[in-house]
Amino acid sequence: MYNRNNNNSRRPIGRGGINNARPIRVYVNPENKTPNNIAPQNAGFSMPVENRPHHAPFSADTVRIASGANRRISEQRNVNRSRPSQATSQHSHLSPSSGRRQSPQRGAGERRDKHSDRKIGTRVRERSPRGENGSEKDNVPPIEKDVIRIIPLGGVEQIGQNMTAIEINNDIIVIDAGFQFKDEDTPGIDYILPNTKYLEERKQKIRALVITHGHLDHIGGIPYIMDRIGNPPIYSRSLTTMMIKKRQEEFSHLKPLDIKVVEKADRIKLGNLYVKFFSVTHTIPDSMGIIIETPFGSIINPGDIKLDHVDGVPTEAEEKEYERFGKEKTLLLMMDSTNIDNPGFSTPESVVCKNLDEIIKNTKNRLIIGMFSSQIERMINVITSAEKYGKKVVIEGRSMKNNVEIVKAMGMIKTKPETIIGVEQIDNYPSDRILVLATGAQGDEFAALMRMSTKSHKYLKINNRDTILLSASIVPGNERAVQKLKDNLARQGAKIIHYRTSEVYIHSTGHGNRGELEWIHKKIRPQFFIPIHGSHYMLRVHEELAKSLGMPIENITVPDNGTVIEIRDGGKKMFRLKEKAPSGLVMVDGFSIGDVQEVVIRDRQMLAQDGMFVIIGSINTGTGKLKKSPDIISRGFVYLRESQDLLQEARVIIKKTIEDTTKGMNPINFEYIKDILTDNVSRFLFQQTAKRPIVIPVLLGV
Ligand SMILES: [Zn+2]
Ligand SMILES: [Zn+2]
Repeated sequence: MYNRNNNNSRRPIGRGGINNARPIRVYVNPENKTPNNIAPQNAGFSMPVENRPHHAPFSADTVRIASGANRRISEQRNVNRSRPSQATSQHSHLSPSSGRRQSPQRGAGERRDKHSDRKIGTRVRERSPRGENGSEKDNVPPIEKDVIRIIPLGGVEQIGQNMTAIEINNDIIVIDAGFQFKDEDTPGIDYILPNTKYLEERKQKIRALVITHGHLDHIGGIPYIMDRIGNPPIYSRSLTTMMIKKRQEEFSHLKPLDIKVVEKADRIKLGNLYVKFFSVTHTIPDSMGIIIETPFGSIINPGDIKLDHVDGVPTEAEEKEYERFGKEKTLLLMMDSTNIDNPGFSTPESVVCKNLDEIIKNTKNRLIIGMFSSQIERMINVITSAEKYGKKVVIEGRSMKNNVEIVKAMGMIKTKPETIIGVEQIDNYPSDRILVLATGAQGDEFAALMRMSTKSHKYLKINNRDTILLSASIVPGNERAVQKLKDNLARQGAKIIHYRTSEVYIHSTGHGNRGELEWIHKKIRPQFFIPIHGSHYMLRVHEELAKSLGMPIENITVPDNGTVIEIRDGGKKMFRLKEKAPSGLVMVDGFSIGDVQEVVIRDRQMLAQDGMFVIIGSINTGTGKLKKSPDIISRGFVYLRESQDLLQEARVIIKKTIEDTTKGMNPINFEYIKDILTDNVSRFLFQQTAKRPIVIPVLLGV
């Protein structure tokens, strides 16, 4: 969802900042403060972040082993268990006693395996969270001769993680490799990637990855995906290639990318296919649409697209750009559906820039503008306006600084070097000569604006003469964070202009509204249509639009991620295969990449809601009796010190459960005891507290 406006300021990109927000603490034993004390058989537990050594390698392994173990469990167990026992079942395989049940070779092999592919990008998980009873197999049949196969691998059930594969005979061309930021449904996850399994199994056919533009929902997946799809060459226009390279610097262990710059006049040969480009209007320079020539007509993917226009009449430049499609026989159009539900034409960026220019000119005190760092055109225009009115610009926020650096290096911004000053120089100038450009208009916790709003910024202290302009819409899901940001800023007396309260347009979207999309449909006049970039509902609305323009319903396919669409019979008919390319969620979770199990995500949700309750007991394997009163550790459940009665009763239940269960049992079946114990304790805790913490028994045989 966050990528609606391509907000790449949401979080530091790359690996940085990942560990800060982990809320989960899982202890094996509170005495074991150093990770090295964890016996190998306990390796399934990750230590609390603060107990990890500062140099990261260890934590990477820990996280990974944990997830690997979870994978084993759900392979073997029925996932549809009740909530508490799910957690236990994960645990049971990791605990000391489980060594008895699993062959030692297997355990050792798994660990070695974890060791060998330590680096990001090399790790391929086989299971999908969707295929709960086995591996999600790629059962798509080989492609037939002269058939065109189109597979949207991401971005058609959500906004973000855009990726599409086009396959003809012996060639595959991949368009975009984005990611999606986590949302509330995937706590702790950093990014969600398109599932590339289909491509991985056919990587020798991949001729190129062609990128439409430099937003993260189109390039974000590159560091994680390239190695898996065989490192094909990447083609894009210059700014995009610079942004890809800049990002890649944070992944120094990866193979260098083979990046080739193309311009819109180019026509390049990839395998047996020719590919051409055209300019599209978006919020970042060098956005391009892609035209793949096939024997039956062209396939067109414009990427993210809107139109420059005056009162609903596209400008001459736009007319000129789309003129070519009058001559082009377009077989298939795949188009952005993000704003299909908004009527008419979206506000052109030129209008926003004019309004911002006025505001910059007329603001007599310090002006702080919060915006997405991905809105590069606006960023360039704001800096240019500031210079025009003799103001100095302070850039705050890492992604914003990075992007300013890139456009400076590319000569895309022509301001004098002294216009941009460091934040530490801010007091050297009168306040009416200062403009601050900052990230964090979405209320992002660690971004510059939020730090200013909470008075935790070292140099920038908000005062009641400041004007703060939030030049961004609120991405769905961020409403509360933005509200908090506005409250905090208002508390310090600043004047706040938001895009809803502003009298003039101070923000516009990067994606065309219905009117613009309709205009483009009419210009391109495709034979077949596949709506992309959007949730299912948006794609359906876009399908309606195409139908209303006279396209037969059988010429339109509304895909899901992984849907295999074929154009056959010499480009005459479109089919949707019953087989799907693997499409299970692939996530970046700390240092590990893969299809993080749904059970892991569910546990995180439960931990966040009701916390956890760990029981540690030693059982005499001869008598089946508890050696001493069991230890209990809990986090996020109830405050133990004030719950002594509850604890006391819980201990009685634990002791009774264990000793009743072990009566006459020889040898002692630890798994069985744990299951019963989990059920009994969960039930008891629920009766007493109406909470369902994850109950984890750790039983040691002595
Ligand atoms: Zn974009
Ligand atoms: Zn996009």
